[in-house]
Amino acid sequence: MGFALNTECGQFHPQLIELAKAAEKAASQEYSNYHELSARNHQKVLGAFRTLGVTDFHLHGSTGYGYGDLGRDLLDRLFAKVLGAERALVRTHIVSGTHAISLCLFGVLRPGDELIFATGKPYDTLNKVIGDGPAEGYPGSLMEWGITCREVELLPDGSPDLAETVKAISSRTRMVAIQRSRGYQWRPTLSSGAIGEIIARVKKTRADIVCFVDNCYGELVEAQEPTECGADLMAGSLIKNPGGGIAPAGGYIAGKAALVEQVAQRLTAPGLGAELGATLDTNRLLYQGLYFAPLVVQQALMGAVFAGHFFSSLGFEVSPQAGEKRSDIIQAIKLGTRERLIAFCQGIQQGSPVDSHALPEPAGVPGYGRPVIMAAGTFIQGSSIELSADGPLEEPFIAYLQGGISAEYVKLAVLHAAQRMFDQGLLNPMLRII
Ligand SMILES: *Cc1c(COP(=O)(O)O)cnc(C)c1O
Repeated sequence: MGFALNTECGQFHPQLIELAKAAEKAASQEYSNYHELSARNHQKVLGAFRTLGVTDFHLHGSTGYGYGDLGRDLLDRLFAKVLGAERALVRTHIVSGTHAISLCLFGVLRPGDELIFATGKPYDTLNKVIGDGPAEGYPGSLMEWGITCREVELLPDGSPDLAETVKAISSRTRMVAIQRSRGYQWRPTLSSGAIGEIIARVKKTRADIVCFVDNCYGELVEAQEPTECGADLMAGSLIKNPGGGIAPAGGYIAGKAALVEQVAQRLTAPGLGAELGATLDTNRLLYQGLYFAPLVVQQALMGAVFAGHFFSSLGFEVSPQAGEKRSDIIQAIKLGTRERLIAFCQGIQQGSPVDSHALPEPAGVPGYGRPVIMAAGTFIQGSSIELSADGPLEEPFIAYLQGGISAEYVKLAVLHAAQRMFDQGLLNPMLRII
């Protein structure tokens, strides 16, 4: 694959283009892994559409109560099949990944129960769900309902501490939660296999503990999903991987049928469960999004691989490193200073199709307890399967880059980011060859 930058060359420093070409060359060997993965996942998805007999009728939605919405019901079965789960619940009524995760916690846990996070501090937006705030717990949080939470710290190398997790289990432990992706942490993402190992250890200690996985950013990045490796329940966002950049909003839950049923009762109301919920005109977009997802995830992975090589060649530490196995679509880049992080995110925004003239600034965002900067020049607000970059304004100022409907667009945006840093004198000492 060539690096077709000729028409755009004028806007980038020639040295940056040279480095981009070299990065592209180095990355192309890794791309082949993702061609293979993508081919497998295309087969998996098409197979599910064919086996379940998706018809034109299913693509149309319902209004009002949404009784008898066969398109909605078949979409649940389609997701379950692709994710290797007994049952799934796929809804635009789930407002975000955080909501999907929160539904799983409140759907399963009861007063007096304990939840253990086996992967250290959970993602920022879960702090208030758990209860962070006043002593009696943030209003409506698990803590306020008398559900306690323990976090088992990761080992120094960022891997989960299995021995401590097992030790933390008590008679009150009802659920062990595992976060697959890195969140805002400099740690490796957990593969489905590694998640399976944690689950096996937990189940050996007490088979009735519910093992839950926050699968955000992990869908279709490997041939197997956590639900195929022992997870009882799993959640994710439709404006990340499985929405394929097409789903306009929503989230999903997948796992054991009885647990998904409990979550459905929590999503709507006891007695209503999954049988209500008008889909309006969204069914087609959710079907189409899943259909596109294997391709879009592949493009995002290729973009991430390129960005890793490119920023590594500029002298920055990156994670994953070249050649490292990936289990999510995130490329983390340690930028070292506040100015660089801001310039990077602003450059990504400038290299985006929507709001390219807006300059993101660090700010408070609901659910995030610390200032963050977020670039998302996306067609769907905040969609991070579309190209986006963000990070907390904290040492060591790491940018988390993810998504991109097409790897070529990722490359251009990454060049814009580097160019902006260069223009502000934030890159110069590192551009060795200039
Ligand atoms: C994105 C993400 C979430 C949920 O975020 P939302 O913005 O609420 O969709 C949760 N956990 C992880 C690890 C994530 O990456």
